[in-house]
Amino acid sequence: MKVAKAAENIGVKAYVVGGYVRDLVMERGSKDIDFMCVGSGIELAEEVKRLYPKHVPLSVFRNFGTAMLKLEEGEVEFVGARKESYRSDSRKPLVETGTFLEDMERRDFTINALAISLNSEDFGEVIDPFGGLIDISKKMIKTPMDPEITFSDDPLRMMRAIRFAAQLKFDIDADTFYAITKNAHRLKIISMERIIVELNNIILSEQPSYGFKLLFASKLLHEFFPELVALQGVESVDDKSHKDNFYHTLKVLDNVSAKSDNLWLRWAAIMHDIAKPPTKRFNKKVGWTFHGHEDKGARMTPGIFKRLKLPLDERMKYVQKLVRLHLRPIALVKDEVTDSALRRLLMDAGDDIEDLMQLCRADVTSKNNRKVKRYLDNFDKVERKLAEVEERDQLRNFQPPVSGEEIMEVLGLSPSKMVGDIKEELKEAILEGKIENDHAQAKELMFIIAEQKGITPKK
Ligand code: ATP
Ligand code: MG
Repeated sequence: MKVAKAAENIGVKAYVVGGYVRDLVMERGSKDIDFMCVGSGIELAEEVKRLYPKHVPLSVFRNFGTAMLKLEEGEVEFVGARKESYRSDSRKPLVETGTFLEDMERRDFTINALAISLNSEDFGEVIDPFGGLIDISKKMIKTPMDPEITFSDDPLRMMRAIRFAAQLKFDIDADTFYAITKNAHRLKIISMERIIVELNNIILSEQPSYGFKLLFASKLLHEFFPELVALQGVESVDDKSHKDNFYHTLKVLDNVSAKSDNLWLRWAAIMHDIAKPPTKRFNKKVGWTFHGHEDKGARMTPGIFKRLKLPLDERMKYVQKLVRLHLRPIALVKDEVTDSALRRLLMDAGDDIEDLMQLCRADVTSKNNRKVKRYLDNFDKVERKLAEVEERDQLRNFQPPVSGEEIMEVLGLSPSKMVGDIKEELKEAILEGKIENDHAQAKELMFIIAEQKGITPKK
């Protein structure tokens, strides 16, 4: 092991620390290795680099006192043992060189405050100053020091607690969880970018509802995602009540997560009913309604993504599209549904039609198994009909068979609203099944439309 040799050469004590040791004990795969030494992490990294016959890229971060080597096996980090002291008037800790134990004390959880010695006197031994091994066996997230101070010092650790609980399927120790509820409001001082990294890890866990329930119960969720919190609760009027849309949303999220690791499909599940609270109405005849929540939800998506520092590119557009369309397949369940309605959905959804159908299936959360079966059978039927229409009409990623350029060219028009109108009429004719998605038929109809509009084609 080159790090052990390098440490001996420069006369420092070195250890493998943190998540790598935890994952080794838990027999999980782990990505990156962190090395800590009592001395300069940068010097240790330089010595390790020297021991490699081949060139290995080394990055040095002097102001953090850390270094990174890019080995074939992956990236490895080096850091010198340090102690952190926080003052109430500043978010940034005072970082000084420290002892081995001081370095372990500054770590977030007992399960992450484990080390493996690389030193000759006890090589390979696991050093466990705070009972991390027992906590792993108890499946428990717990801070090594007073949790109040740990979380007040660095509030991001509260998000990390829930992230680890979600990823590892651990509980959070009662005192640790209580301290999170007390310090939740301090999350305000943490940047949204760092919060969202942890949130996305929670969303990507096997059963994300668990992490969200912890976020909700601790009130951390209230700090950055009030729209989701607003979904919680049931209201009744005249003995009529609606379902709790928060727990419904979490079920939908778990359902899509059981089928797909696509982070953005999971986000679409989180967002699909987000506009239910602002569109909720009570009507004496029909009870509770949420008319237009799909459109309003789609309109709310960019603002929420912007605030959460999520991407605003095609990933946001994808989520927005699925939110907007999430009720459309349900409307296609009826037997007498027209081909034109099917064509319209295919055109609007494009390549995301399969993901949309996955979201719709996940949206079936009734506890009545007969109903669930009926709904899912209905979606099977819709999918068969969509496949038929698709095969006939090739409407996915629809491109009009007569382009704007051709319309202008043949009819002698300059760019104008008229060109757009003609194009739109041609599209409508295809959707309505009056003509096929075919160039010759579209061109013929173009001449008829032009005549109706009083345009004489140039000769
Ligand atoms: P992952 O498997 O997700 O990488 P990890 O435990 O390795 O999990 P990292 O974020 O890579 O987590 O951090 C490495 C180690 O540094 C952690 O195991 C922990 O000991 C320590 N650490 C990281 N962030 C903090 C923090 N905010 N406060 C205290 N200790 C931290
Ligand atoms: Mg790590």
